[in-house]
Amino acid sequence: MLSEKLRECGVVGAGGAGFPTYVKAQSQVEYVIANGAECEPLIHKDAELMEHFPAEILAGMHAMMAATGAKTGKFGVKSKNADALEALKHNLKSDRIEFVTLGDFYPSGDEYELVYTATGRLIPGRDSAPGGLGGEQRGDALQRAPGGARRSGDAEVSLGVRRGEGAEIVLGAGGDAVSRPAGPGRRRHVDDFGVFVSGIMMGTLTFDLDDVLTKTTGGLIVIPRDHYLITRRTRPRVEMNRIGKSACDQCSYCTEFCPRYLLGYEVQPHK
Ligand code: SF4
Repeated sequence: MLSEKLRECGVVGAGGAGFPTYVKAQSQVEYVIANGAECEPLIHKDAELMEHFPAEILAGMHAMMAATGAKTGKFGVKSKNADALEALKHNLKSDRIEFVTLGDFYPSGDEYELVYTATGRLIPGRDSAPGGLGGEQRGDALQRAPGGARRSGDAEVSLGVRRGEGAEIVLGAGGDAVSRPAGPGRRRHVDDFGVFVSGIMMGTLTFDLDDVLTKTTGGLIVIPRDHYLITRRTRPRVEMNRIGKSACDQCSYCTEFCPRYLLGYEVQPHK
């Protein structure tokens, strides 16, 4: 049975929360929805996987549809990832899977947003906590570098590899990843950088390079320690609160334009 295989292999969702995929394979559902939106800025591992492993991904989707009794599969891909979409279409051998072209905005891959776009339905419940989708197992270290950084790429590495090694892969030999020079007689070392794990929006910032890449690592963004993104993220909470209070005039636009609020969920960020 698919659920047993998934459980034995320890397959978990690739969205970050690591929800065990075998639980989903035990359900009976109408639709199986694949989330290929990949909304985190600068992260592009899903686009690479869809472009280079389309047959495997579609086979996985068919297997999940068979296990769950789903008659229809919906596959959300952003219109900007035309190469990935083309590769998937080229490998599609069934008319039971439909592609849903998503706009290039954040957060078109939010599961509430995606489910509504794909099916016209709302996920039941007042709570809008993320549930997690997908089931992909790669320890890819990849990024598109922001601001001063200029090197990006992806590499296939084993789970359990140290973050520091992943960061070295991203930086490349000699630490040439940033456009700002390292200074006379000084080469930049990986310790000069901070690492956003799995994205700058929903990911975590770490300086611990001894921890390892796991099944839920969605990519590494390696940027200099004095980069704005790092100083912003490392501000003390009391300082962030002070800035928030002084900058927010409670216009409530962030709520009125919040995609989940517009779908009817009780999400009111201005509060
Ligand atoms: S209510 Fe929201 S949109 Fe308006 S100022 Fe405050 S944070 Fe910004």
